[in-house]
Parts: sequence; structure tokens; C-alpha cells
Amino acid sequence: MAEAPLSPGSTIGILGGGQLGRMLAIAAARLGLRCHIYADQAEAPAFDVAAAHTLASFDDETALKDFARAVDVATIEFENIPVSALAAIAEIVPVHPGAQALGLTQDRLIEKDFLRAHGIPVASYQAVNSPQELGRALEKVGVPALLKTRRLGYDGKGQVKIENGSAITAMTGEMGGQKLLLESFILFERELSVVLARGRSGETRCYDTAENVHENQILVESRVPARISEATALSARQMAQKIATGLDIVGVVCVEFFDCGAGAATPLVVNEIAPRVHNSGHWTLDGCLVSQFENHIRAVAGWPLGSTERHSDAVMTNLIGDDVERWRDALTGPDTALHLYGKRQSRKGRKMGHVTRLLPKNSAV
Ligand code: AMP
Repeated sequence: MAEAPLSPGSTIGILGGGQLGRMLAIAAARLGLRCHIYADQAEAPAFDVAAAHTLASFDDETALKDFARAVDVATIEFENIPVSALAAIAEIVPVHPGAQALGLTQDRLIEKDFLRAHGIPVASYQAVNSPQELGRALEKVGVPALLKTRRLGYDGKGQVKIENGSAITAMTGEMGGQKLLLESFILFERELSVVLARGRSGETRCYDTAENVHENQILVESRVPARISEATALSARQMAQKIATGLDIVGVVCVEFFDCGAGAATPLVVNEIAPRVHNSGHWTLDGCLVSQFENHIRAVAGWPLGSTERHSDAVMTNLIGDDVERWRDALTGPDTALHLYGKRQSRKGRKMGHVTRLLPKNSAV
């Protein structure tokens, strides 16, 4: 049976209670929709701004079913939610993204196989399950290469760079015993991402491509417009649309790219897919009429998507760890917007908030 669009006052269930869930719940509240957050950590940032919450583990079937009965539709804000939790909820209410799309993006090998099958360029890669297989994989992929855990990696967790001779250490270290993927190290000019929303009808709307800077594999800055040609932007959008459609995503999805330059044999290489709102789309809160968070809520509610047009140029800077102590500076800038996530403790590498600086559209940033 086709899902009916939600009415204002309906409840959206969100699995995961981090800052993404928090910003989704704020966007939903603006539209007269309630959010019920399900998280396994007390003091989840999203609890503070939601109408209801459940604190339980993702394998607590009773809690999952109770949650499902309390909401009209469910979604996620974190891609490492167990597929089994999504499947249990889907027996009771619709879930977007579906368990299949989530499962695919949770495993780097399956994700890369999917991309390759859809004709999307990726770094060359090999599955690695033992030190012997690593030797063979290195012969095929070459060095430098990155050895990554297939599952549960984010913000650079679970990856190690392999130069000549460092292979054995990598396999016997903390990654030993896990299913791994070896991929070639890409010498890129810049990193890009496309955040797009896909509605229930299959309509897609892309935000402008962001140019991203990572340090220690953690995003530190996103800027729009990216310093790329229109041809590159078009190619990135087309790949992102193909991916969203291939995964039959309802909601927001982010595709991250390596831009190797127009002269490269493969100018654009996809790094990974996040089937959710994404840090590189935070600028849309201040730089667009309808943010990625609102468009995700609209999509899962079965409502028409809103404009993804950028009204200003923007530079979004994450406040990571102690950076958050600079929060006051952002309050006095005439062109800056401050977003704090309400996390009680700052830790090294922890995303505490972000600041977006707006500039007139198409001024050089
Ligand atoms: P990931 O966790 O796969 O998104 O990787 C985090 C960051 O590590 C990326 O945004 C890149 O900056 C870097 N990285 C990941 N994979 C590669 C690769 N194959 N070649 C070069 N840099 C990479």
C-alpha cells in the first residue's frame, strides 16, 4: 500500500541521537512535526530538542517495537545502526532509508561493488581477510594504499596507510581479525561532496557541490561554491543522482568524491556514500532557504521537496574538541552563524558545533 503523506503533528522516529538527529528534530519542529529519538547513549544531543526519546540499545527488540508503535515513520541519523534494528521497526512502520540501502553502505566492499556495477569510478580495491591476502592485494593495488575496516569506520576510524614495508604491522595491529578492504591511495586535488534529497516520487534535488577539507580524516571545513568547473559539478551531480536512484533512497544522501583534476584519466572518483544528512551539508542551514535537514524531514514525511538553491556563498568550519572555546567569536561576527550541539564534554576529535560564514553569492571565497 502506498504510504500516505504525514499530517502536521505526526511523529517522526529517528534512530541515533547525535548532532544530526538534533538538527533534524529542530527542522521537524519548525514544520509542526514531532520527533522521537532512539539512542543508546544517555546525554544524546538530540534528546534536548525532541518531543520524546527512548534510551535503549539497538538490539533491544521490545524497545524497538515500542518505539515503532509510537511513531508514524522512522529514519536514521547515523549509518552504523544495525540493519536488524531497522528490519524490526519496518515490520511496524515505514523506514527511510530502507534496510537494504543501509546494509549496502555499511560495508565498504559491498558499497564499492555497487558503485562499480553502476559504472561509477572508485579507487581500485581488494578484499583482505588474512595477512596472505594482504600481500596479494598489495600486488594488485600497489602502494601507497589504505587498509580500511569494511564495517563501522567513520571520521577516519579503522584505517591505516600502507607504504612499503608497513603491511605486516597493519595486519597485526588493532585491525587484525577484521574483514578489511585495501584501496589505492588517491592523489586528489580536492575533495568534494554532493548532498541531495530524493522524494518518495523519485524526484531528486541537489545542493551545490561543496569543497571539503579534512584533517586527520575528519572534516574541518566545507565551502560553497567549490572551485570547480561546471562540467565537474554536473558530473558529480549526475553520479550522485544515479546512486540515490540505484539505492532507492527516500531522504537525503551524501556522496563524497575525490577530484583528481580535469587532466586525470579518471577526474572524479567516488570515495563513499552516506545515506543520511551529512556534515558537508551543514552550510545549507544558513546558505539555503530549505536546509538538508528540512528536506530530509519533508522527504520522509512524503511532502514535496523544498528549494535547494544557494542564496549565499558559505564557509562552514567545524568546532572540533577545544575549538569550541572560540564560540563567542562567532557571536560577534556580522556574517557568521553559530551552531552548538549541546555536548556536555569536549574531547579530542569530537564535533562540538560549527560556524558558518556567509558571503554574497558568487563573491570569491
Ligand atoms: P573515509 O572514512 O573513507 O571517508 O575517509 C576519510 C578521509 O580519508 C577522506 O575524506 C580522505 O581525506 C581520506 N581518504 C580516504 N580514502 C582515501 C583514498 N583512497 N585515497 C586518499 N585519501 C583517502
